[in-house]
Amino acid sequence: MLASVFAMKQAGATACGIRFTLERNDASDHVLSSARGFLFGKSRNARFFEEHQSAPVCNKCLQVGHVEMLCAFPPRCRFCFGDHLSKSH
Ligand SMILES: [Zn+2]
Ligand SMILES: [Zn+2]
Repeated sequence: MLASVFAMKQAGATACGIRFTLERNDASDHVLSSARGFLFGKSRNARFFEEHQSAPVCNKCLQVGHVEMLCAFPPRCRFCFGDHLSKSH
């Protein structure tokens, strides 16, 4: 860890981060459960949050990535997919 930070400083980097990008399969699940035990201890219950859980869905146009208050798109009905609000049913 220290060695890699030192190497980044040598390379002129001013910022660094650690990001795990994993394909979910049996092997990566095994790695994650090992990391869980290592990082948080076996007595703790740790959760890994996945990106899609925090994506907002717009109530007005039903698109992902923004909320109704910030929506600039025409309304889309979740029941019949017409160009009106779902509430109008
Ligand atoms: Zn919207
Ligand atoms: Zn409708």
